[in-house]
Amino acid sequence: MQFDVTILGSNGAVAAHNRYPSSQIVNYNGRHFMVDCGEGSQFRMNTFGVKWSKLDHIFISHLHGDHYYGLIGLLTTFNLHWRETELNIYCPPPLEEIIKLNFKHSKTELRYQIKFRHTRAEGTETIYEDELLSIHTFPLLHRLPTTGFLFKEKQHHRKIIPSKIEEYQIPYELIKKIKRGEDFVLPTGHIISNAELTTAPSPPRSYAYCSDTSFSIETVNYVSGVNLLYHEATFMEEHAVRAAETYHTTSVQAAQVAEQAKAGQLLLGHFSARYDNLEPLAKESQSIFPNSHLAVEGKTFQVV
Ligand SMILES: [Zn+2]
Ligand SMILES: [Zn+2]
Repeated sequence: MQFDVTILGSNGAVAAHNRYPSSQIVNYNGRHFMVDCGEGSQFRMNTFGVKWSKLDHIFISHLHGDHYYGLIGLLTTFNLHWRETELNIYCPPPLEEIIKLNFKHSKTELRYQIKFRHTRAEGTETIYEDELLSIHTFPLLHRLPTTGFLFKEKQHHRKIIPSKIEEYQIPYELIKKIKRGEDFVLPTGHIISNAELTTAPSPPRSYAYCSDTSFSIETVNYVSGVNLLYHEATFMEEHAVRAAETYHTTSVQAAQVAEQAKAGQLLLGHFSARYDNLEPLAKESQSIFPNSHLAVEGKTFQVV
């Protein structure tokens, strides 16, 4: 099952170095989930060949402009493309008012419905669920109410061994039940155990997005054991004081979160405009958490 993350924007609030502000696409089994929508996100989708038609869910972490200023443009373009499918936006409550005010004063009548789901920056909450995936919010420590997002794959069914279907002449209509753990009963009454017919599914995978935040030990609990962790790393460690003042994180602190959470892989992003070359920032993180990578725009990272 496809589960990956494509980076559309990786920069912090100040435009610099041809990097775009925060936005990414989580692709789960062909379904696209946008996480944050900084200015220019729709152009990045075009550049990187992300299909518009598959995007029905947008998640906004907080209301600093570098995380949602691309949204009005994207929603307008959807309208100009004759979108009719309902769009779901998961966001802090005031964003609904901001969007509606924009369309009110531009006298724009959308052809599609927007369903707003308000997030809360306290505790955790399940905000999306289907048969394969659930998405949860968790609080971060920033200057505005801010949530992270945790994408959790559900446990897959057991895998049936193809040769056993042939061997025991298992009818097609019973395969689903066997995948769910049932035994198979032969016409003679003899029971073939599920363990003989199936193999265990791969363990469920997870991805956590930690938007703007101070270093917080609480975060470790929320993202514990994720396969892939995106964590902001606005500053290098030499600017740790500035990071604390502005409620941001250093690359070393991001690595500490990944290490303590026992994450599989760390993506660093939301880079300060003061850094053109980001390699030293990556190296600093790798000295603590070796499997650290820069969230390079246009790059797709597998959740494995
Ligand atoms: Zn930001
Ligand atoms: Zn912010």
